[in-house]
Amino acid sequence: MEISHNKSNFRIDNKSNNKCNSIKSEDCEKKRRCLAFYNSLTNIPNFNYIKENISKIVDLIEQSEFAAIVYININDFRNVNYDLGYKFGDKLIVKVVSIIEEHIKDKDMLCHISTDKFGVLVRSVKNELELAGLVYSLAQSLEKSVTIEDKSVYISASLGVSIYPRDGKDLEELIRNADTAMSFAKISGKSNYKFFESSMRKQILERVELEKELREAVENKEFIIFYQPKINISTGELEGAEALVRWIHPTKGIISPTVFIKLAEEVGIIEKIGEIVIKTVCLQNKKWQEEGYKKLAIAVNLSVDQLKNNSVINLIKKILNDTELESKWLEIEITESIIMEDFRYYKKMLNKIRDLGIKVYLDDFGTGYSSLSYLKDIPIDYIKIDKSFIDDITEDKRQSAIVSALIQLAHGIDLKVVAEGVEEHSQLKILREYNCDLVQGYIFSKPVSKEDFEKMLKSNNQLVHKLR
Ligand code: C2E
Ligand code: CA
Ligand code: CA
Repeated sequence: MEISHNKSNFRIDNKSNNKCNSIKSEDCEKKRRCLAFYNSLTNIPNFNYIKENISKIVDLIEQSEFAAIVYININDFRNVNYDLGYKFGDKLIVKVVSIIEEHIKDKDMLCHISTDKFGVLVRSVKNELELAGLVYSLAQSLEKSVTIEDKSVYISASLGVSIYPRDGKDLEELIRNADTAMSFAKISGKSNYKFFESSMRKQILERVELEKELREAVENKEFIIFYQPKINISTGELEGAEALVRWIHPTKGIISPTVFIKLAEEVGIIEKIGEIVIKTVCLQNKKWQEEGYKKLAIAVNLSVDQLKNNSVINLIKKILNDTELESKWLEIEITESIIMEDFRYYKKMLNKIRDLGIKVYLDDFGTGYSSLSYLKDIPIDYIKIDKSFIDDITEDKRQSAIVSALIQLAHGIDLKVVAEGVEEHSQLKILREYNCDLVQGYIFSKPVSKEDFEKMLKSNNQLVHKLR
């Protein structure tokens, strides 16, 4: 197979949409090679083509004044296929190819690595600065709403770049490092591009290892729940609790959710962890009730990704049914960021949850820049004022004025208020003056194991003295 420098000539026949199919069946060998070396949807060389021609491509790179690999991944493509169907997905990929081709020159080569992944060997720029310009405009062009027939979808891409010979002396290393940089771009907030740095490899390897261990943790149910009390500020009584998950790692010990929840969301296993959490909490709460402890509602944190899937409603129903826990003893905390994402959809989902008789908290309130006008429309029962507002409440007059106004505003629209992260007595005093309803924080208790929480349940009044 001859190697061509021309990006368009990379297609055997750029007029035909499906060249391999148009090769006469008598020409078996030609057809076989075409199917083997070109992507049948886009007619672009596939990874086999690169492997087959590796020495010729390396020669090209060595002869070039400047050469780099740009690795491109279309974000969340799986969801596009899932939501809008495979036919739409195929057309979208063809559209993406045309966008990429608009940015590259004849000297460059485009390869269709796998369904939603592309590689470009860039030889048309003279230096890193020009390359940065190309990558930037490519990333910009791949972040847009695309309409095909009557359906629209918002696409974005993650791009990783490696430069020859700095980031790899052979093609394999260059591609691997561009891929690593792409993964980095993805982790650091999607719709992004990154140039390879040697420190990335170590971090990606650590992440891959953690992901593997986390999947095993889900299989082996290596999670336990800690409980943090919520205290009624006027009576000092234990009025509820928040369930906070911990990972009991076989060798590393207790791992904080701040280390693994985001990863679990990114790799798509948060739903499984969430299911373990809801089940464990409902079972435990029912057990405490049967043992005669004071009945309490326990709140679980739901990640936005869990709410994206309609089936979470049935899952909650099923767990409540199986554990025979009344729905009023289960509560849900969701972060404020969901308001920004897709208000109408989440409003519908939260309504379904509340229809079950479950109360909803809007967590980390004040951090998401959401408009206050949304607050009256979103179906919730409580707002949880974020710890960052509580931290300065005693020293910063403006901060305390904001907290006071928030509490009044929430009360005005029939919402209750929880202050989180309360650590000092002086903070508690101010919050009581402002008529905050519930408080949660180290001043009363850190999140504790179920055994320690049970002790708290036994001596309910123990915490009242802290209010004095
Ligand atoms: P969050 O929901 O905002 O939970 C409050 C976090 O603040 C908890 O951290 C808690 O231990 C900590 N905290 C409570 N009071 C104080 C205080 O007075 N001072 C200080 N410095 N910290 C306090 P944790 O347990 O590490 O959880 C971190 C985050 O992980 C949670 O933030 C929540 O977003 C997430 N998370 C925890 N469990 C789950 C879960 O089961 N599912 C999901 N999706 N997310 C969870
Ligand atoms: Ca929470
Ligand atoms: Ca919070």
